[in-house]
Amino acid sequence: MSGFGNWFTSIAKGLKLTMRYWSPLEKPVTEKYPEEMPKLPERYRGLPVLDTKPDGEAKCVACGACARMCPLGIITVVPSDKKTAKEFTLDASRCMFCGMCVDICPFKALKPARVFELAAGSREEMIYDKEKLIALGKETGERSNTI
Ligand code: SF4
Ligand code: SF4
Repeated sequence: MSGFGNWFTSIAKGLKLTMRYWSPLEKPVTEKYPEEMPKLPERYRGLPVLDTKPDGEAKCVACGACARMCPLGIITVVPSDKKTAKEFTLDASRCMFCGMCVDICPFKALKPARVFELAAGSREEMIYDKEKLIALGKETGERSNTI
């Protein structure tokens, strides 16, 4: 096909798709956020948060693997003498949601939060400590089997 033919076919295909969404019978693809919360995809991967055991304690044993794996070095783990994390902080303002810390954790103690409204008024508020990461983890619910 000539250059003009290719060009015309591409334009026609694009217009056909556009016209489909102009049809009054077609459901709108836009979402009314923030009035209505969008339905997140099954495998949505947000900020890594701490998962907990049935007794409510964090599964984390403070091995530090996630902190060593994070390419940005934004995780800090301070172990206690009971194989738990005395402190666990994550700088959410720099996290790129790559999920490498979640993947490396041998105890499945991290999971991606199913939330995206993380805006804050200062950088300090974006430093998530252990309590905040556990609270967000509980809000997020069960660890997905697809992780
Ligand atoms: S890799 Fe898992 S168990 Fe180890 S410090 Fe990180 S969250 Fe805790
Ligand atoms: S998701 Fe990636 S950037 Fe964010 S804390 Fe984990 S390893 Fe670091």
